[in-house]
Amino acid sequence: MSIVVVGSIAFDTIETPEGRAAEVLGGSATYFALAASYFAPVELVAVVGEDFPDHERSFLAGRGVDLAGVEVRGGRTFRWAGRYHEDMNVRDTVELQLNVFGEFQPVLPAAYRDAQYIFLANIHPGLQGDVLDQLTQPRLIACDTMNHWIEGAWSDLGRLLARVQLLVINDEEARMLSRERNIVRAARRILEMGPESVIIKRGEYGAFYVGPDTVFTVPAYPLEAVVDPTGAGDTFGGGLMGYLAASGDLSPAGVHKGIVYGTVLASYTVEAFGIDRLRRLGREEIDDRYRKFVKMTRF
Ligand code: AMP
Repeated sequence: MSIVVVGSIAFDTIETPEGRAAEVLGGSATYFALAASYFAPVELVAVVGEDFPDHERSFLAGRGVDLAGVEVRGGRTFRWAGRYHEDMNVRDTVELQLNVFGEFQPVLPAAYRDAQYIFLANIHPGLQGDVLDQLTQPRLIACDTMNHWIEGAWSDLGRLLARVQLLVINDEEARMLSRERNIVRAARRILEMGPESVIIKRGEYGAFYVGPDTVFTVPAYPLEAVVDPTGAGDTFGGGLMGYLAASGDLSPAGVHKGIVYGTVLASYTVEAFGIDRLRRLGREEIDDRYRKFVKMTRF
């Protein structure tokens, strides 16, 4: 079963205590699509400029990512630059050049409209809502958001939350959205806003899920070296949704497994800059780390 993802494609310039990478392929939809592609075909809806290179197109297509929904506009692709602190849970946005992303109006090709699994990565909640209007039979709609929209597009976000089943956000955003400091209370408050389930991503502390009749928490996969946390959250979303679309199992046990796959995929992403680790990651490595994770957390 294929998955539609709507989000950004970017060129990122990243500085971490481990080094620097300039103008590398990134964007929320890119990380999501690559992670999900290990499990299911992905249909990508995004915008790029005329500068987007053919070899990156071929790379994504070679991973089973359909690019019919990627619009090419006159101008430059979105650019983002970020710098991480010594504590890599903290980062500053150094530069944001929206370029063609500033005029993004997501239009789903006709062949994508009957998709059942949809991930609305971080874009304006009004645009995320426009995407939902184009779907004919969604089964699972998941979305992400960020502090910028919680502050600046509160009413659009409120309307969107009433229409999605699963919200996947990080802890800082969960606190801002719910106005609760405590993560358990924040999750409860968010569920009152509409979604049936919420996953709060907590960086190196793992993920916390509250859904109908279930509460589930996992640590991050313990790593000796984290090189670049960029895209970990979107990769997590891709692993999770990929597993759910492939298995069709939306029971609590199915979602728990999906969360572990998301955790495993994210643990690989952070081992190298940008998508470098995902470029050379094999499916057998995912299954290997999944098994190790189960062994480490079962008692
Ligand atoms: P994450 O580390 O999960 O927050 O994702 C980082 C990715 O999000 C980078 O590849 C950026 O290109 C992309 N990104 C950063 N800011 C924005 C934004 N305002 N809208 C959409 N994507 C963004």
